[in-house]
This record gives sequence, C-alpha cells and structure tokens, in this order.
Amino acid sequence: MDTRKNVTGVERKVWDLIRELSPKLRDVTENPVLETILIVVKVLGARKEDVIAKDIIVSEKEKNIVKELVEKRASGYPLHYILGEKEFMGLPFFVEEGVFIPRPETEELVEMALDLIKRYSLRVVADVGTGSGAIGVSVAKFSGVTVFATDVSEKAVEISLKNAKRHGVLDRFVVKRGRFLEPFEKDYGKIEMILSNPPYVKKNAILPRDVLFEPSEALFAGKDGLDFYRAFFRRYNTEGKIILMEIGEDQVEKLKTILPDASFLKDTSGRYRFLYLNRRFS
Ligand code: SAM
Ligand code: GLN
Repeated sequence: MDTRKNVTGVERKVWDLIRELSPKLRDVTENPVLETILIVVKVLGARKEDVIAKDIIVSEKEKNIVKELVEKRASGYPLHYILGEKEFMGLPFFVEEGVFIPRPETEELVEMALDLIKRYSLRVVADVGTGSGAIGVSVAKFSGVTVFATDVSEKAVEISLKNAKRHGVLDRFVVKRGRFLEPFEKDYGKIEMILSNPPYVKKNAILPRDVLFEPSEALFAGKDGLDFYRAFFRRYNTEGKIILMEIGEDQVEKLKTILPDASFLKDTSGRYRFLYLNRRFS
C-alpha cells in the first residue's frame, strides 16, 4: 500500500504520468519510457524499483516538475545533465552543464590503462582533459596510482574534484586548470603513462542534437579534428613514457603520418579507437 494520500484529486498515479509524457521523447531517444522513469525517480527522490512496481501517487507540484523536465529533454537537452550524474566504470559521476558526459567507449581505454598499470607496475599517470574525472578518478580508484589531471575548463576542475572525493581518491587525484600538461611541468619527468580522451571532432561535423549542449572545447579540434594530437606531440617529448589516447574512428591514417611509430587498438566492436605508444618498454 502506498502511504501518500490522494487529497486534492489532481494527484496522479505515476504510470498514468509516464504513459502520458514518454511519447514526447520519441524523437530524441530510443528509450522514451526508461528516460521518463529516470526523470520521475530524480524528481520524486524515490527508488527506481518502487516507481516501476508500485503505482505511486504523484502530487500536482511533482507532476509539473516532471513535465517541465521531460519537455526540456524533448528539446534535445541531455538526460544526464537533468539527472546530474552518469555511470562510468560502474561508478556514478557527477555531471552538469559545462562538463563532457563520459561515454561507454572510454571505459575500454580505462580497462586497457588498468592492464598496463598492472603489467608494468606503474605509479604515476596523467589524464589530460579530465572533464568529469571519468578516466583519472576511475583509474585511481581501481589501481594504486597517483593521477595528475588537467583541464582547460574551471568547471571540469571543480566537478572532477567532487567526483574524486565521492570515490575516495582525493589523496591520489591531483587536478589543475591548464592546457595539456602545463600545470605539471615540474613533475613531467615522474609521469610514466599519459591518458587522454581529447577533443577530436572535426569543426564542421554534424552532431546529434544532445551533443551540441556539451562544451565545444570538449569536442572540437580544428578542421580535421587532429589539432589536439598535433599540438600535444609537437610539444612533449614522450621518450620513456606510455601514451594511450582515444581517437575518432576515421583518424588512423592521418595520425600515422603525425606519429609513425604509434600503434592503433580496436574497441570491442572492431573499430580503431585508441592510439597507443609505448616508449617505455618495448
Ligand atoms: N576525459 C573526460 C571523459 O573522457 O569523459 C572528458 C573528455 S572531453 C572529450 C575533452 C576534455 O578536454 C574537455 O573537458 C576539455 O575541456 C578538455 N580540453 C580540451 N583541450 C584541452 C587542452 N589543450 N588541455 C587540457 N584539457 C583540454
Ligand atoms: N565521441 C564523442 C561524441 O560523442 C566525441 C568525444 C571527443 O571528441 N573526445 O561526439
């Protein structure tokens, strides 16, 4: 039995509300019902299981908030900005407007990084362009390394710190605002592996509507999407280091000309999505 009372008569059963509002999301997602449920869960502060299994009563005020958020989502606004978090490597990461929402393919980069850390007993790793801290915080969490993270965005520094605290790695996740590894110039020699999911989208690429709500400095990297890699490798001597970076799926050929001795690794769906350079152990 639900204990909420239907006192005003305008209150609704939650499934009536979900059925009414979810069709609004048909054009923006393949999961309109699930996304509506997640928005309801967020607004009601209820458990997902309860929203699904019990016909909870929703007040007029709650209904209006849910409706407003579903309409915002229907305009293309990203679901995870509405929810305030995104799961990455099984961990919830705070995200909000101004910070890139971590993607599932980047979990594969983290898995590879964890293998390399173990195989070579690495202690100090860098995460360039940490965003929410997805890569750096999860690598620190699932291994014993210290992570030096940077981002050009002040918001990213703030949110990645919140995530490091949330996941108990504040003592091993050092984040500073700045370009590339500029804030850690003094410590550059200590860094054994450099990880990054940098911006790599071409300037005039056509992106899904929701991606356009994410910060442009997180996505775009010049005409061919390679500006970050060009600038990074021109600038840093990577001798003695391991480099693992995410790349766009059509960028291998051009990257080979920039970095003739790099290897390219496939993701689980068989696409080349990672640049790997081992100048430490060969
Ligand atoms: N690593 C996070 C992830 O995988 O979810 C965020 C990746 S997002 C695609 C790229 C990030 O790099 C953004 O947070 C952006 O602000 C940052 N960035 C862009 N250019 C940078 C630069 N030159 N130096 C440091 N950070 C940079
Ligand atoms: N894969 C991202 C997208 O969804 C792009 C990420 C990046 O530039 N690193 O658009």
